[in-house]
Amino acid sequence: MAYINENYLKLPGNYLFAEVARRVAAFRSEHPDAEIIRLGIGDVTLPLPAVSIEAMHAAVDEMAKKETFRGYGPEQGYDFLIDAIIERNYASHGLKVERDEVFVSDGSKSDCGNIQEIFSSDAVVAITDPVYPVYLDTNVMAGRTGALGADGRFEGVVYLPSTEENGFAPALPDRPVDMIYLCCPNNPTGTTLSRAELAKWVAYARENDAVILFDAAYAAYITEPDVPRSIYELDGARDVAIEFRSFSKTAGFTGTRCGYTVIPKSVTAKAKDGSRHPLNALWSRRHSTKFNGTAYIVQRGAAAIYTDEGQKQVAANIAYYMENARIIREGLSALGLSVFGGVNAPYIWLKTPKGMPSWTFFDKLLREANVVGTPGAGFGPCGEGYFRLTAFGGREDTEKAVARIREKLHV
Ligand SMILES: *Cc1c(COP(=O)(O)O)cnc(C)c1O
Repeated sequence: MAYINENYLKLPGNYLFAEVARRVAAFRSEHPDAEIIRLGIGDVTLPLPAVSIEAMHAAVDEMAKKETFRGYGPEQGYDFLIDAIIERNYASHGLKVERDEVFVSDGSKSDCGNIQEIFSSDAVVAITDPVYPVYLDTNVMAGRTGALGADGRFEGVVYLPSTEENGFAPALPDRPVDMIYLCCPNNPTGTTLSRAELAKWVAYARENDAVILFDAAYAAYITEPDVPRSIYELDGARDVAIEFRSFSKTAGFTGTRCGYTVIPKSVTAKAKDGSRHPLNALWSRRHSTKFNGTAYIVQRGAAAIYTDEGQKQVAANIAYYMENARIIREGLSALGLSVFGGVNAPYIWLKTPKGMPSWTFFDKLLREANVVGTPGAGFGPCGEGYFRLTAFGGREDTEKAVARIREKLHV
């Protein structure tokens, strides 16, 4: 008799984007002539950098010849990519990362989702609220939580509210936790944690023998000097933090797939007998058992962004999105709305006017301005009363959407 993993039954349906699509379709059928602009996109829209395309074409040609064909590669990634990652993102900033501390993968969603496997099944998980749903859902699937309560929170999970009141810098947990997920710059709020705020978390993790799971998928969007690009910029983080990075938002690899995880060998956790073990060795074991490496062709495309020309091309694409972010942020502030994010991240998190529920604001924005965004409530209970717009659209659409919101939205 095969029984299912009943933890899966605790998860609600993938309600958020399905409900957005349903409401947009209903509006469209009632107003077939309305020109709807989508500022809810969580995906890049610009094509891959030319350097990546060239490198991938060359890699395809290598695959066509017996002499240069490649079969299975190292599970952890090719040295040419790992060395380029270390040089550009760590060594050149004075940060020490060794080759066997970097694990190349098919993206951060997999890594952020799979990392929980190497922790005990009774570990206590802390997540910020609102949050990128992967951290929470994968722990629900693994049985680290109880049921979903009427308040929208899973039993046993420690939620860390991130709101306007605390400047989107959550307070330390009020009870002991073991795994702490932090995303900076943040999706969905677009906000960041300062060096001082992050130092607080590193100190907490060191004192409480916890591990920080630091998602830096948007590191390349940081413009302000006080926001760390890597958690390893903080003293002591090499003993308590794992860092996730991705080529998706940095270089348009959302469909091409490449990311990496850094696990310093000095990050350890206890076995029940009290002995301490490096998490690097556990992840290495998991990676080589369950993963067979990212495609050689893709790794060549990813490595190309670390050339001088590649860095220029990537910066140009990010600048394009960040100009969209500026247009949205300034346009909505001028309307008197409270707007957060959009300075170090391609997300703008706005407070709905007059405390309106986020789904009510969704309908209002769609009806009055024909603009689609994402209701904050979909990212966690503390997202209620907020709304996410993204800077990943085209320039013309972004400008048109903001102009329309300013003319037509009654706030
Ligand atoms: C987009 C995103 C990622 C990256 O996912 P990939 O699987 O690498 O495409 C990771 N974390 C957050 C918060 C994201 O928004």
